[in-house]
Amino acid sequence: MEFRLSDEERAFQEAVRRFGDRVLRPNERRIDSEGRIPSEVLSAMADLGLLAMPVPEEFGGMGASAVLTELAAEEVGRGDFSMATAVFFLLEAGWGHVLARHGTDEAKREVLPAVTGGKAFLGIATTEPTGGSDLGAMRTTARRNGDGFRLRGEKAFVSGVEEAKRLGGGHLTLAKADGGGFDFLYVPTGSPGIATQRFENMGRMGISTGGLAYADVEVPGRYLLGLERKGFEYAMEGFTVARTFVSAACVGAAERALEAGTAYVRERHAFGQPLGKFEAIQFELADLYSQVEAVKWQCRRAAWLLDEYPLKGDGSHRSEVDLAVAAVKLTAPQVAFECVKRVMMWFGAAGYTKDAGLELGLRGIMSYLVGAEGGLNIMRIILGRELLGKEFVPYK
Ligand SMILES: Cc1cc2nc3c(=O)[nH]c(=O)nc-3n(C[C@H](O)[C@H](O)[C@H](O)COP(=O)(O)OP(=O)(O)OC[C@H]3O[C@@H](n4cnc5c(N)ncnc54)[C@H](O)[C@@H]3O)c2cc1C
Repeated sequence: MEFRLSDEERAFQEAVRRFGDRVLRPNERRIDSEGRIPSEVLSAMADLGLLAMPVPEEFGGMGASAVLTELAAEEVGRGDFSMATAVFFLLEAGWGHVLARHGTDEAKREVLPAVTGGKAFLGIATTEPTGGSDLGAMRTTARRNGDGFRLRGEKAFVSGVEEAKRLGGGHLTLAKADGGGFDFLYVPTGSPGIATQRFENMGRMGISTGGLAYADVEVPGRYLLGLERKGFEYAMEGFTVARTFVSAACVGAAERALEAGTAYVRERHAFGQPLGKFEAIQFELADLYSQVEAVKWQCRRAAWLLDEYPLKGDGSHRSEVDLAVAAVKLTAPQVAFECVKRVMMWFGAAGYTKDAGLELGLRGIMSYLVGAEGGLNIMRIILGRELLGKEFVPYK
């Protein structure tokens, strides 16, 4: 067992941390208030190789391992505390990986170099206005139409709708297939017949969330991922990868909160001594640190498992991978939220101001508690299924 990072991993981690300190932190308030990630930040990310990292080099990516991508996700989550840049990062990484693995050569050549170059957005569209957890109840359909498909239905709460319109690009879209099962299609947002809507969120304002309505949208056959009617599997593969990077971003945000909190309780005095001298504060710091360390290593192990199995195209050890990823996606956002909340309280009234910057993290991390990349109860259902057996899944 090797806990030490390799020299290359350490050097890359340090480079991404420097990028976070020099580029993301100074821009995070602007990202939040302007509701978009500035183009120069995206260009800098592309220059560092941070966009869709696992995509093979022939399509402009780094062909990065899940472990390296996980390390970078931590740093991006630490750098832009609002989580907007982390979401952009992990969507491109997770869904770029899926397109690279299951897309046609034509689609890969057309889409991936633009995504890795920061010139197009790639996201995921599964959730519908009637619900996101119960994907089996989805209503959007993809009907075979000659060589291609005709898409009809509606998606909701989809990240990056505005970005895909502004930059170009689109979403990997899950739809009910003719004859049962699901098709997974790359759907450019600029396709005729698509109407979009922007939702007003409470956090991670730098990346939009919106609706996509498809009125008989023609999708060329080259945009089908993998085999017809097997799309659910490819979507689940993407969620497994993306959930690991979500968790890593939460680890970075949690560490950032603790760094801010530690600095504050060293300096702030009450009753004649620094706050950090009170056991009530010190013990809380110790508890939070221990939880963050635990979740960080849980996250690295999940990434390591991804490298060992799914990223190599090895479908074995599925249960081990699902357990590791669901467990960390269940824990990491809660630990991160708790860290930010506690540190806000150490700051007292100052923690409630925008100057403290902590509310940025609280608003961003909350998205993962309410549902983004799968709600907490869905992670619990996956864990229950793997621990007890499929017959214990509480729904059909
Ligand atoms: C900021 C943000 C960005 C998002 N980005 C995307 C995106 O890019 N693409 C996309 O497709 N979706 C996206 N989503 C949607 C996300 O995937 C859904 O929120 C999630 O799948 C849950 O679906 P829902 O919100 O419809 O809640 P529901 O499915 O209506 O569930 C509501 C609540 O009930 C719980 N619940 C559901 N079923 C059960 C059960 N069987 N047992 C116990 N509890 C249960 C859920 O965990 C949740 O807490 C995003 C969401 C947010 C908040």
